[in-house]
Amino acid sequence: MSLKDVLVQNDFHFSKKFGQNFISDRNLLDAIVEDAGVTADDTVLEIGAGAGTLTAALAAKAKEVVAYEIDDNLRPVLAQTLGGLPNVQVVWQDFLEADVGALKARFAHAKVVANLPYYVTTPILVRLLDEGIGRSITVMVQKEVADRLAATPGGKDYGAITVKVRLTGRATVTRIVPRTLFYPQPNVDSAVVRIDVIEGQFEDEDPSLTAKIARGAFAMRRKTLVNNLMQLGYPREKCEEALKSMGLPATIRGECLDAKDYVELAKRLKGGTRQDESHKAL
Ligand code: SAM
Repeated sequence: MSLKDVLVQNDFHFSKKFGQNFISDRNLLDAIVEDAGVTADDTVLEIGAGAGTLTAALAAKAKEVVAYEIDDNLRPVLAQTLGGLPNVQVVWQDFLEADVGALKARFAHAKVVANLPYYVTTPILVRLLDEGIGRSITVMVQKEVADRLAATPGGKDYGAITVKVRLTGRATVTRIVPRTLFYPQPNVDSAVVRIDVIEGQFEDEDPSLTAKIARGAFAMRRKTLVNNLMQLGYPREKCEEALKSMGLPATIRGECLDAKDYVELAKRLKGGTRQDESHKAL
């Protein structure tokens, strides 16, 4: 039975607020599973089961698939499409509300695969990356988001989320997907991006400080890195000194530094905000 027939039969109406653009093209579903490198040893975490088309394709290759879905109206649809599959579990919950500790314990080594709802793409990715959920993350996102995730330093697409990805590992755009392959059809094209986690690629003593500095570096894109760092409380001289010691000019912008530069910068700035300095004086 076609995707449309299943939805009609179950009297399902799309919720725009949940970013529901489903896929049913067999070749595309198989291609996503292949891009993610899913094998019979894998636990797969899917976010947004929809009508279960991708879930079923993943289940055909994986050991088990755990799929989160926020929209209760999809219950009868998924009962029909996934009901007989023994290695699929659907969790009826907003993924962003799920307990992080439990997610980490269960999915740190899982493969995350999802056609992400566009309205929460960034918060979901930030959650996965910040919390170390998944050893690889293969996601369908809007093409412009894919460009940002896989950008290289220096370009207009390079920003805080790119640095976050590069601090975690490496992102590759595996395919561009035309809007015509979704139902209902969105206004933009999409792309599949695979992010591979690289353990221990940097010696980062304080990852949360590095993350904070990298985020702050892009707070005001038109400003220099030093001006952005000053907003975080670092004195100008301290910032200029740190950059100089790294062989970088005081006028450099945040988009010119790669992840390893942010790790190094955080090391050199550590404990150097005006507030830190005043505590030291006490
Ligand atoms: N995987 C299906 C497919 O490829 O056809 C559906 C993809 S659709 C783009 C995104 C799905 O995520 C929708 O079913 C939507 O209801 C669900 N969703 C949206 N926000 C969610 C959230 N915060 N937590 C879990 N699921 C969510």
